[in-house]
Amino acid sequence: MAMQSVNPATGDTIETYDIWNEAQLEKTLADCNSARKIWQATSIGDRCDFMRQAAVVLREQKESLAKMVTLEMGKLINDARAEVEKCAGVCEFYAEKGPTFLADEILESDAGRSLVTYQPLGIVLAVMPWNFPLWQVFRFAAPGLIAGNVGILKHASNVPGCALAIEDIFRQAGFPDNVFRTLMIPASRVAGVIEDSRVHAVTLTGSEPAGRSVASTAGKSLKKSVLELGGSDAFIVLEDADLEYAVKQAIVSRYLNSGQSCIAAKRFIVVNEIADRFVELLKDAVSELQPGDPMNEDTLLAPMARHDLRDELHNQVIESIAQGAVAVIGCLPEDHPGAYYQASILDHIKPGMRAYDEEFFGPVALIIRANDEVEAIDIANSSRFGLGGSVWTENVARGEKVARQLECGSAFVNGMVKSDPRLPFGGIKASGYGRELSSQGIHEFINAKTIWIR
Ligand code: NAP
Repeated sequence: MAMQSVNPATGDTIETYDIWNEAQLEKTLADCNSARKIWQATSIGDRCDFMRQAAVVLREQKESLAKMVTLEMGKLINDARAEVEKCAGVCEFYAEKGPTFLADEILESDAGRSLVTYQPLGIVLAVMPWNFPLWQVFRFAAPGLIAGNVGILKHASNVPGCALAIEDIFRQAGFPDNVFRTLMIPASRVAGVIEDSRVHAVTLTGSEPAGRSVASTAGKSLKKSVLELGGSDAFIVLEDADLEYAVKQAIVSRYLNSGQSCIAAKRFIVVNEIADRFVELLKDAVSELQPGDPMNEDTLLAPMARHDLRDELHNQVIESIAQGAVAVIGCLPEDHPGAYYQASILDHIKPGMRAYDEEFFGPVALIIRANDEVEAIDIANSSRFGLGGSVWTENVARGEKVARQLECGSAFVNGMVKSDPRLPFGGIKASGYGRELSSQGIHEFINAKTIWIR
């Protein structure tokens, strides 16, 4: 059996990689288990220095890493460069803040001295998706390794080149051997790794079905898990919004990465008073998003990452249209050899349609019209998902009031939902549990140990 990198812009196979046999997996787990003791004995100052060096390596190799990302999953080359830069940034953020986030806390009690100290859990398995193939891994690995954990990565099967490149970045940065390893295994072998007694916790970023599977194995094994799953973020446009600005941000938020972002704006909930105008402006802007070679810096619309994902998106679109949704623009696969889908808008989405209930993981904006602010909030909260959401209004106090009522992990006012190392990131409901980034992210995979001294 083998894993393949396929260029989604052309359909050409780039490279084939062997899948590991049981002996290779067993040796790696044993090696990582030995590395755990060395890494935990390394001072946090030294761990931070290694992470700073990882940022240096990332920047030195920005161009080759960005090309690898674009070739394997199709994102626009400038976006891939920005992703590498963001990874370097998260390494530096935790190298600077990690020691403070993990410092002992002295607590008052009946002891002569009592405190809580933060210690690593051990080996943490990361099961990761292809849509931000570097960033998703670094946002786990930077805090995880600085906290003293060993990281093992099961990356998505369509980005094996990126998976091996990440392992190599830590090697080149001078990390001790086996502190971070990539496992070349398929999804069907993840459960066995979670169950292995040398593995202490698991974090998964991916779809809801994968989340259910990983969480149930972790639950049966009594191991800590963090799940970052799908989303169908609301983008609420109120009648007093700056429409031109909201549309500009809507374009970035929905069509970046060809719509394949968990925190992309997916449901545009627009109050009736300005809905026609909003759709008209959005349609004009969408018509500019023409597909092209993602390696070309002028291209505006990238291919989707795989043909099967493109075909599934098209099924969701045509079934929604059959259920009464209105195609405003696009709504067809591009007539092109790659996995391209036209930048699209579906209007008049109603409960019961696939477009109302499901995540659309591609370049399709879904318009839901609402009578007023109250109904817009109800629609936003009617989703099974609860990752992010945004509200657009010239009245910032009103925006904050709406943001506080949204059932999600991150609510933005007059800004597209984004991740930032300084702010916690994660979801509720079917979008998962646990938090990444900020001090909360580094605290997910540690033992908060109480020390009591008479
Ligand atoms: P996916 O199919 O769930 O794959 C994600 C990872 O899970 C891959 O490494 C995959 O391996 C593995 N996997 C799949 N099924 C599994 C199972 N039953 N047990 C163990 N591992 C399993 O998701 P995707 O299509 O790559 O990514 C898209 C989804 O991820 C969307 O729903 C998106 O919203 C979500 N996402 C969420 C976030 C967030 O931060 N919340 C960020 C990015 C993406 P194989 O590749 O080998 O199948």
